[in-house]
Amino acid sequence: MTDGTIIDHRDGVAVYGNYIGGAWIAAASGETTENRNPSNPDELIGHFASSGAEDVAAAVGAAENAFAGWAGTSAIARANILYHASEILASRIPEVGRELAREEGKTLKEGIGETTRAVAILRYFAGEVQQPIGEQYSSMNPSTLLFTLREPLGVCGIITPWNFPIAIPAWKIVPALAFGNTVVFKPASLTPLCAVYLTQALAEAGLPPGVLNLVTGSGQAVGDPLVADDRVVAVSFTGSDVVGNEMKKIAGGRGAKVQLELGGKNPAIVLADADLDHAVTQVINGAMMSSGQKCTATSRAIVDRRVASELADRLGASISALKVGDPLRDSTQIGPLISAEAADRVVGEIDTARQAGVALAAGGGRPEGLNGHFVNPTLFIDVKSDSRLGQEELFGPVLAVIPVDDVDEAISVANSVRFGLSASLFTRDIARALSFIQKIQAGIVHVNSETAGAEPHVPFGGYKGSSSYSREQGKASREFYTQVKTVYFDPPPSSGS
Ligand code: NAP
Repeated sequence: MTDGTIIDHRDGVAVYGNYIGGAWIAAASGETTENRNPSNPDELIGHFASSGAEDVAAAVGAAENAFAGWAGTSAIARANILYHASEILASRIPEVGRELAREEGKTLKEGIGETTRAVAILRYFAGEVQQPIGEQYSSMNPSTLLFTLREPLGVCGIITPWNFPIAIPAWKIVPALAFGNTVVFKPASLTPLCAVYLTQALAEAGLPPGVLNLVTGSGQAVGDPLVADDRVVAVSFTGSDVVGNEMKKIAGGRGAKVQLELGGKNPAIVLADADLDHAVTQVINGAMMSSGQKCTATSRAIVDRRVASELADRLGASISALKVGDPLRDSTQIGPLISAEAADRVVGEIDTARQAGVALAAGGGRPEGLNGHFVNPTLFIDVKSDSRLGQEELFGPVLAVIPVDDVDEAISVANSVRFGLSASLFTRDIARALSFIQKIQAGIVHVNSETAGAEPHVPFGGYKGSSSYSREQGKASREFYTQVKTVYFDPPPSSGS
């Protein structure tokens, strides 16, 4: 970290501030929270502002004051700043990717990949905001020029999870800013350093003071007052369904525009005619990368009974061979979970399933000799669809194989959960693939590829309990971050006289 983001040092460890009104400052209380490396909790990454309602009020005030000026800036000027931010962040990809891996626990390759994606998002919206945005219509009156404009909403509250600590903030904040809104950003408490990096790149690129404000701190101390503030006209949230649905009541109840991106229980259906080598690789990538901590992670392999045993054997052998360890080491494939609580919870779920008699085919428990929050990549077979393993999002490296008789039962099982984010089908049969695309209840559908992964220029979001019907990224972003003004433009009656 290179500049004023660090406001102090304590025993040689950096103290980071909030970014409010264009300045990096301590929380009003002066308090900080420690951020530690999940691979090695003895390693302190930094101290971060432990903020509260007073800091939120200051940030919202700064965003409110900056709104008219920023909304009045030309889209081209906003695009130039976003593009400049992409260049700044691009120049720091090795540093930010490494710090992301150290802070969040995904592998270095994944950390660099995610940072590269944040750069792509900045570049995309620098271009997108220069595209045509309004529409022109015919009017019943031939002399009327009838058209729509899209205008920004005002101050947007952005609340993000820890599992994609730079890409998710980018795909919310960047379109919000691109379309002329101002932002108060509350990142996850477990990954504030990535939030500082993203904010720093945008600030250095020339955002006017108050346009983007970063307030670090807990969900209750920072998130609650942000969601409840009447000056915040829109809230975009990604995280758990429990928190998101509560937030919707508060923000939606006071009339704010609300967007929720929540959990998943994503299926990969493998039919008997699938290329099993390809299916094994893709299912494992979808289930185990980032230690299964992706909203789009595969947590159910729904497999035609005729190949279930062979597939389970192959999955088990490959999962047992995955290398678990320090994410910064090149050979590592699976890093730690985000926290001790998360690892305890996932190990508890594994133990509960074993005690209930579910067959364990690989993994279970924690690897020996590692100090961090590691959990072994785990495979259960012959899982019942209506069991906990078949229904609940575990958010860890755990895959459940559910055998089925045919494609119709597979789709029915796939649709039997309350979520509907992402789904995959592995087959060579085009007719079955088309039927799957039509019948599956999911916002993101893959044929012959893993459930995880999202490109920045296409809509992202889920069906049912995974989302609130709105979509993020690509052109879908402007639906959330703008409102429509319809203009009837008639010449004055005396015109031309
Ligand atoms: P979380 O516990 O719901 O937290 C998400 C964010 O909400 C964090 O910034 C958290 O702050 C904040 N928060 C917590 N309580 C709050 C409150 N009362 N008011 C306002 N904000 C509050 O979720 P998580 O554990 O970080 O993330 C994992 C979940 O996110 C999984 O369910 C996953 O599927 C989902 N997810 C969904 C998507 C998607 O696009 N659909 C993408 C990624 C993740 P603290 O960090 O301080 O608690």
